Amino acid sequence: MAAELSIEEIQNFKGKYPKQLWYLFFSEMWERFCFYGMRGMLTYFMVTQLMMKDEQANLQYGATQAFVYAFTFIGGLFADKILGFRKSLFWGGILMIVGSGILALNPKEFFFLGISFTIVGTGFFKPNISTMVGNLYKKDDVRRDAGFSLFYSGINIGALIGGYACIAIGKNYSWNLAFGLAGIVMIISLITFVFTQKSLGPIGLPPGSETKIVIENNTAVKNNAKPWHTYAVFIGSLIFIPIIMKMVAITEYTDYFMYAIGPLTLLYVFYEMSKYDKEARKKLIAALVFIIFSILFWAFFEQSGGSLSLFAANNLGNKILGAVTLDPNGVNNSANSLFVIIFAPLFGLVWIAMAKKKIEPNTVVKFGLGFLFLAGAFYVFYATRFFASATGIASLDVFTIAYLVITFGELCLSPIGLSIMTKLSPVKLQGVMMGMWFLASAYGQYVAGLLGAGLSSADENDTLLQKLTTYTNGYKQLAIYALITGIILLLISPLVKKLMGDVK
Ligand code: GLN
Repeated sequence: MAAELSIEEIQNFKGKYPKQLWYLFFSEMWERFCFYGMRGMLTYFMVTQLMMKDEQANLQYGATQAFVYAFTFIGGLFADKILGFRKSLFWGGILMIVGSGILALNPKEFFFLGISFTIVGTGFFKPNISTMVGNLYKKDDVRRDAGFSLFYSGINIGALIGGYACIAIGKNYSWNLAFGLAGIVMIISLITFVFTQKSLGPIGLPPGSETKIVIENNTAVKNNAKPWHTYAVFIGSLIFIPIIMKMVAITEYTDYFMYAIGPLTLLYVFYEMSKYDKEARKKLIAALVFIIFSILFWAFFEQSGGSLSLFAANNLGNKILGAVTLDPNGVNNSANSLFVIIFAPLFGLVWIAMAKKKIEPNTVVKFGLGFLFLAGAFYVFYATRFFASATGIASLDVFTIAYLVITFGELCLSPIGLSIMTKLSPVKLQGVMMGMWFLASAYGQYVAGLLGAGLSSADENDTLLQKLTTYTNGYKQLAIYALITGIILLLISPLVKKLMGDVK
């Protein structure tokens, strides 16, 4: 049997990417296929099969999204304290498979039960695979952001194919088959992980395992997790399922949950911070700054699922470059993933090339750039009004360009955010901080809904031209807010850099 790789052997890899990155890439790709496949079916299924009203289905959809990302904090917490990243990922994968299996058997009858399994499962899977990517790199390795960029294209390949395939199968063949497909790809994800995890050496083992992971400051991890703790987490997460079923079904509960979870997690992180020295505390505060800004980013970005899809449905033509006919909502749903797949590896290579020349912007500047691109994109969404017919039908080409620009913004912020969480957090808090990063997405989704509702204030009886004006006015506002946020970030960048200490 080949000897287990040591952390040094893994982190001293040659070339641009460590080989383990590819294994995690494929596991995550299939997991995102399952996740986005399901996500793409939820609202449609609720309206057409469960006979819910549009508004109710939208609220319920929002609740599942909020919960799914809120649970990443809990998944990260238990990974840090008890399970380790690998076991968490495995358990999360199993729960996701069970959830999809239940939905495949009888989606109408067991809808909320299946969804709740998936919510808890994603919480255990999603943050922890991202943290393991970070562990493949030495503290100062300049190739880390590039690694996360590549990993990010895996995410989007899964999202793109899953998002298309599942709903198409559901609509045209059978919902059982569509949910079943999500389960099958999740099995592939888990098999990929199980068969390749040996290559991760000590990465992701439970805290305090024989082999100590020396990633940062030679921190030796104390072993205080007992075997029964593991079973307690497994059983505890199962007990949560009926509770989540109730909370997702009654969306006011989700509101209360969202009001409570953010402040509570903050308190918890402050408590954990008190155990660390000043340097580590400053880094964690810097991580919180990034997390808070990311809430704003996602609140704007996630207009794609809300106001931008209504805008696409009402106010866009269906011709690209005057020749190809495409459904504008199809473009709205897929342009971003497609552009991420094309440009994420390129961005990664640009970061590496810039690092070699010592001109790579630091993370705060990259975040600032992310907001400037976001502002640019919303300005282009606004500018669609200058490329519109007299009846209020705007150019799909210009709309697609806006998606290109917003994707550039995402690539400056989202993979970089994953990367910086792994750099700024002490080993024992990496899962929790990654969970907080995704918790920001939960809040982003939440605020996106509020912003979208404000933007969609156009009257149903308005003409298309009036609707075009209302929406694009809103996008111009968002462009201005994004620009201001970007400028604020660039202005405070020296301060945040100071907090980050030796982390770039
Ligand atoms: N699209 C990315 C993913 O699925 C980012 C999600 C998020 O953080 N909101 O991982």
